[in-house]
Amino acid sequence: MLVVCCIDVINTAFLLNQACTKWCSREVKWLLFFVEGSCKSTGNCCESIHISYDYKPIHSLSFFQSILKKDVTMARFSPVFSGHTIRHFDCRCLTEDRLCSDYDSRPVFCQQYPYSVLYSDAVLHQNCGYVIKKRFDLPFFSSVSLKNDMIIFQFNNRISVNNT
Ligand code: SF4
Ligand code: SF4
Repeated sequence: MLVVCCIDVINTAFLLNQACTKWCSREVKWLLFFVEGSCKSTGNCCESIHISYDYKPIHSLSFFQSILKKDVTMARFSPVFSGHTIRHFDCRCLTEDRLCSDYDSRPVFCQQYPYSVLYSDAVLHQNCGYVIKKRFDLPFFSSVSLKNDMIIFQFNNRISVNNT
């Protein structure tokens, strides 16, 4: 908890750029929350996927194309657009029986779910066998951005206030 408070103070005291603020938010999430449960093989995490690469969410076609040039495993994902912005991705490897047809060679991104929820914009999928729980109650945050990030994170991942 002391480390969380230190990160909070650093985030408030210095005018951090967006990348540093994101880093603070990520670290605080790792410290305050953890993942529990097991996979029920619903396949829900393989559709309407929000993907981050090198910690950056993929929202533009140009960013996605630059990733494809260096990582061919990402070619299985089809972007779904809202205007010019990528809203989410679908995966061509998801079979009708909700299994992965390329499980042994699935991208690192897939291997990291649900832990990726703690360091990206991804959220825990509906009816996932995993849950996110709090190690501690949220402390007092002097940084408004950090506080808002944690409140939104709890809301998006259906983390109950009572940790149940
Ligand atoms: S590669 Fe497999 S594990 Fe990854 S999203 Fe596609 S179906 Fe799911
Ligand atoms: S959403 Fe959760 S339970 Fe369903 S396949 Fe993915 S990890 Fe398993």
